[in-house]
Amino acid sequence: MMAAPFFDVQKVRKDFPILSQTMSGHPLVYLDNAATTQKPRQVIERMDHFLRHENANIHRGVYRLSEDATRFCDQARSKVREFLNASKDSEIIFVRGATEAINLVAAGFGRKLLKNGDEIIISAMEHHANIVPWQALCQEKGLVLRVIPVNDRGELDLETFEKLLGPRTYLVAITHVSNALGTVNPVKEIIKMAHHAGACVLIDGAQSAPHQKVDVQEMDCDFYCFSGHKIYGPTGIGVLYGKEKHLLAMDPYQYGGDMIETVSFEKTTYALPPHKFEAGTPAIAEIIGLGEAVDYLKAIGFAAIHQQEKELLDYATKKLLQIPGLKIIGTAAEKESLISFVFDQIHPHDMGTVLGEFGIAVRAGHHCAMPLMKRFQVPATTRASFAFYNTKVEVDVLAAAVLRATELFK
Ligand code: PMP
Repeated sequence: MMAAPFFDVQKVRKDFPILSQTMSGHPLVYLDNAATTQKPRQVIERMDHFLRHENANIHRGVYRLSEDATRFCDQARSKVREFLNASKDSEIIFVRGATEAINLVAAGFGRKLLKNGDEIIISAMEHHANIVPWQALCQEKGLVLRVIPVNDRGELDLETFEKLLGPRTYLVAITHVSNALGTVNPVKEIIKMAHHAGACVLIDGAQSAPHQKVDVQEMDCDFYCFSGHKIYGPTGIGVLYGKEKHLLAMDPYQYGGDMIETVSFEKTTYALPPHKFEAGTPAIAEIIGLGEAVDYLKAIGFAAIHQQEKELLDYATKKLLQIPGLKIIGTAAEKESLISFVFDQIHPHDMGTVLGEFGIAVRAGHHCAMPLMKRFQVPATTRASFAFYNTKVEVDVLAAAVLRATELFK
């Protein structure tokens, strides 16, 4: 057996300035990592340095500052290509986040290529970002939206998926990891099944990119997307990966500067990908910050991240299940490090509010997955989501505070 990689959590925590703060008079216990992750000083300092000393617009300048800024953005694109193991930099498109990436595919791919009666398959555990763009497209173009059900553990029913796949299935859009349940979906199998039926596949990687090594070539997905702010990078920047053949066939998403080859009043021709999909001045400092976040994750390594987060998940599951009345929603065999829980007599918002008063940041709500809440017949859940910088001591603090809250609500 391979030796487990050594992971010094206290040393890593020193990289995240916010983690040594207090909230409501208690040491901050930040367990809302599925909503957004905290930023290491490497990312903060890189962006600060860029804004203080290196800021210029990219592409158009013929002076040194602009040439350097352009080069930094190009380097960030290469880092992301390596992060996802895409084959070409031109398959990496910078967008605002996972939401914009999915909207881009719905507009540039869906609107152009799908025809009345074509079918799109999603699942019952999708985030609204991977439901609503498809629903709107279906209404606009007369397409059919089909939904893979989930079982009581929160796993996809692949037998039904097989039956849903048909000659009119054009696209399957599935989350890699559920933000509300933690379920890790067998995306390689899903992609194989979809391709066998002649359909393309978009993987929503918003909750997988922070936790596991993603290899888009091995996965063989047609599209994959994630948000920078969930992988320890800045907000306002994210990535869409697309296979080159699709990006070439698609329409642009937005129109304007930077995405053209030539413009005249008679006819405009478009630039090649990725620029075809990146109209206007991009989020330059954020792109550079994202590159730094990718470097940071690379230095820590997904083997260490996975081990630390799995330990936290196992430990927290055990501790929380000792609390009378607590029920975990989402008990799939394959889970990432988050736990959604409910009590019969306590509303999740009340639980979240009390935990906040103890300095514990968790999320309470429908997690932008209203159809999934309906499936489990709960209005909402309280969700604790862990990152590699969390500790077992923090899990103990969480469990003690949840127990205390149950006593308060008796
Ligand atoms: N998909 C999933 C699974 C998510 O968890 C999220 C964010 N909660 C999104 C998509 C949307 O990400 P963003 O808001 O960063 O665009």
